[in-house]
Amino acid sequence: MSVNVEAYHSIQQEFVKQSVTLVAVSKLKPASDIEDLYKEGQRDFGENYVQELVDKQAVLPSTINWHFIGHLQRNKVKQIVGVANIIHGVDSERLLQEINKEAEKKQVVQNILLQYFIAKEETKFGLDAAEIETIVAQKEQYPHVQFLGLMGMATHTDDQEQIKAEFDQLITLKQSLKARYFKEDAAFSMASIGMSGDYAIALAAGASHIRIGSMLFGARNYTS
Ligand SMILES: *Cc1c(COP(=O)(O)O)cnc(C)c1O
Repeated sequence: MSVNVEAYHSIQQEFVKQSVTLVAVSKLKPASDIEDLYKEGQRDFGENYVQELVDKQAVLPSTINWHFIGHLQRNKVKQIVGVANIIHGVDSERLLQEINKEAEKKQVVQNILLQYFIAKEETKFGLDAAEIETIVAQKEQYPHVQFLGLMGMATHTDDQEQIKAEFDQLITLKQSLKARYFKEDAAFSMASIGMSGDYAIALAAGASHIRIGSMLFGARNYTS
């Protein structure tokens, strides 16, 4: 078995204590790896590629919660709305409009997180604080979307202080939005931050959801 069951139970125990949801990131890993963790009790799985999520969902138990955590292209919105329980990486207003339109067509309400650009890197996607503010101030325009909170990815660095500062920045914005726009909306409560390399910092910063892949499933092979 390629799944690290021991690491899983140790992380899961730590997360449960703090009411944090572990999202097991299974991208590029076979459905059998997901089944192995499912048998251990895991129900939340994260995928980055639309077709891969759709294919796995078709063969795996319907009690799995699917998190789409990748960069979503507008032309793939049709395939993912009503299929993923939560779309984590909503990184543009046009993408949000497309999701709302598709959710209306399917007569569903799609759970989403706005992706906040917190890294000091050009390579990552996301909205800045002003763009998030603009969207949230007009949230009535998206009646088929449920805003659950914010998602972010820290800079890929060994500087723990910088990662902490970036996560703190996201938590602060989330709390500020909560107070001003979502006081009456209990659903707006999520902060999806942290990965295998920086999950301890995310935990301390106040994450609600942490997305962990390689620590559970081993290194990924991007070339196969
Ligand atoms: C791949 C990925 C993860 C998991 O990364 P690991 O370092 O393997 O834990 C988390 N979040 C996002 C957005 C990812 O693309």
